[in-house]
Amino acid sequence: MSGTEIDGGLARKAAARAAGAWLPPVSNWPRPLRLAVIGAFALVGFLARGGFADQPGAAMVHALFDPALLVAALLLEPQGVVAVFAFAVVVSCTPLFGPPPAPLSSMFDYVSLAVFALNSGILALVARALERLSRVRGELDALDRRNAEQLSHFIEQAPAAMAMFDRDMRYLAASARWRDDFHLTRDIVGKSHYEVFPEIGDAWKADHAAALAGETIRSDRDFFQRADGEKLWLRWEVRPWLRPGDGVGGVLIFCENISDRVAIRQALEDNERRLKAILDSAMEAIVTIDAEGKIISANPAACEMFGYAPPELMGRSVDGLMPGASHGEHRRYLSAYARNRETRVVGRRRVIEGRRKDGSVFPLELTVSEAKDNGGVIFVGFMRDLSPIEEEKRRVNALRDELVHVSRINDMGEVVASLAHEVGQPIAAILNFAAAHRRAGTGAAGEVDIVARIEAQARRAGEILKRLRGFIEKRPEMRETEDLSALILEALDLTPSRSRAQIVFVPQHGFEVVVDRIQIEQVMVNLLQNADEALRLAEAPEIRITLARPDPERVSVSVADNGPGVEPEAREKLFSAFYSTKRFGMGVGLSISKSIVEAHGGEIRFRDHAPHGAVFEFTLPTAGGPP
Ligand code: ADP
Repeated sequence: MSGTEIDGGLARKAAARAAGAWLPPVSNWPRPLRLAVIGAFALVGFLARGGFADQPGAAMVHALFDPALLVAALLLEPQGVVAVFAFAVVVSCTPLFGPPPAPLSSMFDYVSLAVFALNSGILALVARALERLSRVRGELDALDRRNAEQLSHFIEQAPAAMAMFDRDMRYLAASARWRDDFHLTRDIVGKSHYEVFPEIGDAWKADHAAALAGETIRSDRDFFQRADGEKLWLRWEVRPWLRPGDGVGGVLIFCENISDRVAIRQALEDNERRLKAILDSAMEAIVTIDAEGKIISANPAACEMFGYAPPELMGRSVDGLMPGASHGEHRRYLSAYARNRETRVVGRRRVIEGRRKDGSVFPLELTVSEAKDNGGVIFVGFMRDLSPIEEEKRRVNALRDELVHVSRINDMGEVVASLAHEVGQPIAAILNFAAAHRRAGTGAAGEVDIVARIEAQARRAGEILKRLRGFIEKRPEMRETEDLSALILEALDLTPSRSRAQIVFVPQHGFEVVVDRIQIEQVMVNLLQNADEALRLAEAPEIRITLARPDPERVSVSVADNGPGVEPEAREKLFSAFYSTKRFGMGVGLSISKSIVEAHGGEIRFRDHAPHGAVFEFTLPTAGGPP
């Protein structure tokens, strides 16, 4: 049986207390009162002495002063007994108070006096013993009172909620904390626990009964709903306290209100659940690593992205997921963190390579943020698989190339019509030279010259066709350093003017650009054809091509015509696909030109040409400048 001994080593004193328990309440009387009572009895004896005048002295003393002696003894006054004895002797043996007493004459007198003296002695000893007993009892009571006070003070001051009960579950003491926690007043001492807490259920009552039977019972987390509706979470212990030699004196209940802790814990658990739900459903891969670069957590998206089962990733080095990071990427996070966030890594969005479990490498976008954890630091990496985006980019580029090519073929209709005329010239010349040769006959003078001319014309026709083929052929994009003037001259060759416009262009050297020649030619052909078209009905048609260098990084090409210009409402839509004012126009020329120029890092725009006409100008980065 486990219990709590409250009385400690007071067994001896308890026995003394038991012995003095019969002492009359007179022991509590004040001393003057006791002395007055003894004095009164002695005085009565003294005053009554006349009625005993014929008695021998000793018998008279017995009769008169025995009651006073007895009273003094009962009043626990040994000195009182002695004083009464002395007074009796003086009264009966000396002439001090009245006529001289009869002398002690007989043996009986002497014996009586001796008996009186003996009586007095015995009563004095009894009184003294009783007095001592009373004093010890008083001390014990005081000690008890002090102990009880100290105990209740101790319980009162205890920083925990605790209460002490007797065997009937009545309050002996309760700590201030107990009263505060349960909103109780001081007057609970003496009241029944079940009266104070009528809401206590049978289960707890059974626990109290078990504790009164000697058991100690505790609970780490127990719910308790007060009668007023207040809900509490408690950690409690109920144990018996023992009275030495007297068994279980009652129970002690220790109680801790852990409602706040339970609420915090619940909030934490809720947070954790919510966080897990967010991580589990996040589209982005989220991986947490410690300062050593070991993976602490990875959400399902991360496991799927890297092709691992969740347990396989735990504790693994993050370097294995990022081949580019095999040089200790996390250490860079750490040093970045140590540099007080003057970071090149933390918080920045970067594209790096990821490695799946099967070894395949893929592009991923990584953002790292850091968080404090138990005084240390952890890093959270947010990752996005860029392979679908890269794939999409490739597809869009392929489509754009396709479109560029289709639009080039579309342009060809007009180009071919114009070039047919150009190719016709050398062919007609060849025919003429061939006829002249036939007329002169083989071996005639000048034959070599005629054949050479035929060859030259055939080469010229071949050149024109080669340029045409080069222009329409489908080919991968190739960027090379090109001279812009040469490129413009080639484009001019491909777009003979139908409007018979005067072309003003002064080729200039030093305008070098890194471009796909065919694509930039395509832009030029587009602009030239549009200008030519706008000039069909013009009086003095002119197309002016100007090269300029707006700043050291860029060159610009402008194509100006003196046609009717662009209607105000059409300006917004000029570069939109499928916008055309022409009867058979597809409306893709300017939009393709815009996408080609922008893919080269340049810009294209339109402005009015004074007094009338349109200027289309595009820029390109100079060779060696930024792309
Ligand atoms: P398309 O030539 O097939 O119409 P474009 O995209 O090349 O397609 O041109 C779109 C429209 O822009 C043309 O239909 C025309 O209305 C207008 N435009 C283009 N260049 C000029 C210009 N130099 N002068 C006037 N209008 C022009």
